[in-house]
Amino acid sequence: DIDDIYETLMYSDFDVDNLKPSSALTPEMIKATIKKSGMKHMYMEKKEEKIVENKDAVKRGPADPSLLVPRHPVVAIMGHVDHGKTTLLDQLRKSQITAMEAGGITQHIGAFSVYLASGDKITFLDTPGHAAFSAMRERGAHVTDIIILVVAADDGVMKQTIESIQHAKNARVPVILAINKCDKPEANPERVKMELLSHNIVCEEFGGDVQAITISALKGENLQALAEAVITLSEMLELKADRTGLVEGTVIECRTDKGKGPVTTAIVQRGTLKKGAVLVAGKAWAKVRLMLDENNTVLNEVLPSMPVEIVGWKELPSAGDEILEVESEQQAKEVVQWRTYIEEQEKIEKDLEVIELKQKEHREAHRKHLDSFIGMTWKQKSAVLYRTKKTLMSKRPAETTARDKATVPIIIKGDVDGSVEAILGVLDTYDADHECELDLVHFGVGDISESDVALAETFSASIYGFNVNANKSIQQTASKSDVPIKLHKVIYHLFDDLKEELSSRLPELT
Ligand code: GDP
Repeated sequence: DIDDIYETLMYSDFDVDNLKPSSALTPEMIKATIKKSGMKHMYMEKKEEKIVENKDAVKRGPADPSLLVPRHPVVAIMGHVDHGKTTLLDQLRKSQITAMEAGGITQHIGAFSVYLASGDKITFLDTPGHAAFSAMRERGAHVTDIIILVVAADDGVMKQTIESIQHAKNARVPVILAINKCDKPEANPERVKMELLSHNIVCEEFGGDVQAITISALKGENLQALAEAVITLSEMLELKADRTGLVEGTVIECRTDKGKGPVTTAIVQRGTLKKGAVLVAGKAWAKVRLMLDENNTVLNEVLPSMPVEIVGWKELPSAGDEILEVESEQQAKEVVQWRTYIEEQEKIEKDLEVIELKQKEHREAHRKHLDSFIGMTWKQKSAVLYRTKKTLMSKRPAETTARDKATVPIIIKGDVDGSVEAILGVLDTYDADHECELDLVHFGVGDISESDVALAETFSASIYGFNVNANKSIQQTASKSDVPIKLHKVIYHLFDDLKEELSSRLPELT
């Protein structure tokens, strides 16, 4: 019905005897309507260009049990700030360097593996802070098999300890308790275990299933026992993965490297990643050019649970994004295109909703404006129509003078019919010889009402009242919507005020 209003507006000739509702619209309203309806059409067209086929990458269904082989655990370390998470990770990494007699330079890639004397292996996530975890959890990424909860024995359960427990519970990830700083004389591991009872972390000695290991991350004490606890738990969890078929994994960290370009650290969760594989993650894709571990060693293939730095992304995905291998570069491009398209469609849907809402408000205001015609005398109606017509005429391109006049939209309210008509009469003599043009949006008898304010907001108008009131709530609404209400009891004060507003608009013209 926007089109309807538009048509009527364009072709109506404002015949007073043949009153057309829409002739009460002002040029601003027409412009707004045209603009909005134009926008709507543009969006409609965009929506209609259909991509028929869903070209997203598809995650494979559950693996055939006969293809499942054991995999090692992926572990995250969580706990309250200063309880020793970083120190513990550093020690674990250091133990590895010694064990492997590597050059001693490990780069931070967001995850690393620890090889135990028993031949077992553990992958530790090394992502800084809780933010990265939250990002991954929001995306529903499940990379962590076990959480090591670090609690300082001299400090006990703190705010982030509880948050970590909550995180583990929500993600249904089992916990191992590492009671840290046990080298300190004031360390009280038993108190920590007691405190945790009220958070549903029940250690083995209390008949629960949580293993508790007392350690000193600083001195590297008892870390072997901690690693063994991880292995024990992971054996119970019977962690398995399918090493065949298309790769699935999760992005752990992303960065742009000066030499390598966009790189991500990922944990492979299914399949075997090889050089040349084509991957998609979010709206980015990669042809794997190079795979590295935390020691900068080039890898030829990466099995499930292994962290790997992947080089070859065209753009950077985000931490927590799911990685899916696809058959070809062509397919990768299609997937990215599809995801971009879907995102855009969602945005359009949202925009359309906003436009529709705006249009509804717009119609409401229009209806209210028309309602004000009801009960008017013929003289009043014709005064409104005359003004509207005049304003519209002055806006017609053929008749537009070199310089457009500024318009000052106003609403007039008075105590009685007579006063309103008197004001209108004076206004009539006004705009002919003024640089600014008055645009009488609405007038009427009685106190300032909600609908006056709504109307004024729609037209960016000021409300002038003569011998009328505006109650508190109306004044509040008005000031919230930036609608000036000017109340006067002396008629020439009202005109002075109005003149001032008119002349205040003048500088805008030059
Ligand atoms: P994070 O905030 O949890 O990563 O904690 P940090 O690893 O940064 O450790 C915080 C402080 O506690 C540092 O000054 C560490 O040296 C100290 N710290 C960590 N582990 C131990 C420990 O086992 N014993 C002692 N005495 N101090 C520790």
